[in-house]
Amino acid sequence: MSELIDGKVISTQIKSEVKEKVAALNAKGVTVSLAVIQVGADPASSVYVRNKKKACEEVGIRSVAYELPETTTEKELLDLIDELNGRKDINGILVQLPLPKGMDEDKVTDAISPLKDVDGFHPVNVGKLSIGKRGFVSCTPAGVIELLKRSGVEISGKECVVIGRSNIVGKPMSMLLLRENGTVTVCHSRTADLKEVTKRADILVVAVGKPGMIDASYIKDGAVVIDVGIHRKEDGKLCGDVDFESASEVASKITPVPGGVGPMTIAMLMKNCAESVELQGLI
Ligand code: NDP
Repeated sequence: MSELIDGKVISTQIKSEVKEKVAALNAKGVTVSLAVIQVGADPASSVYVRNKKKACEEVGIRSVAYELPETTTEKELLDLIDELNGRKDINGILVQLPLPKGMDEDKVTDAISPLKDVDGFHPVNVGKLSIGKRGFVSCTPAGVIELLKRSGVEISGKECVVIGRSNIVGKPMSMLLLRENGTVTVCHSRTADLKEVTKRADILVVAVGKPGMIDASYIKDGAVVIDVGIHRKEDGKLCGDVDFESASEVASKITPVPGGVGPMTIAMLMKNCAESVELQGLI
């Protein structure tokens, strides 16, 4: 049986570190503020936005909510971002995705100042990650690195395999593992023999977006398995991209769903917000 990597415990640690950092900044007269923009009333987005506001309250970050109607035009949204980019009292800007149909998400992401892009989606921050410069890093993959490090998993020199190459998870994940000196392979839907590759992994990060797809037959004995996937089953329960029961028979360490990578994403968002004031040269 494998050891559980507990994202609830580790994310709580990170949030309490952020809380201390924010309190120290406040003591120096520096406040940290995050603008959270939601367009329309998609129920899943509303839950995410509510959780982000709650996390801000927990760590002492001021959150400023912009709940815009579904009828908002792209121009109105871009004008708001432009205004927030220029405001000294706003350190982070987050636009909850997905946006309503007809809005160009790339255009909206690109409009956010890279110095306020706490989601780490702006091309400037993506570029900085690939050339090893300091910038904002996408929260979910950054959270995976924290989970590994704080669970005592050595990345340097290890065979790391990432399943998935999306811009928000797979690609930044592979860059981060490389930055930690892992030997990284990225798999995707055109990978010829997926099992042959994944069975080489000492660390397997699964972001394939298919519920329960990765079972023990994809995993080397003793590998560390990180499940980024989140899906809601018909019975209302959550599951990941990994078949947990089967995988935990062979993995040495594994993240559960829920309670693994999920809680890390918001904790890393809070960490990015607290770091924004440094990147903006405010301290
Ligand atoms: P995407 O759907 O954007 O990407 C999935 C990737 O998996 C693609 O690169 C795709 O390849 C690859 N893929 C699909 N099928 C196969 C296959 N049969 N074999 C090998 N590779 C395959 O998903 P995301 O990256 O956005 O998300 C991945 C998972 O993580 C989802 O379950 C999502 O819900 C979850 N997630 C969780 C977060 C969290 O906070 N915990 C945050 C973000 C996402 P190709 O590029 O060739 O199409």
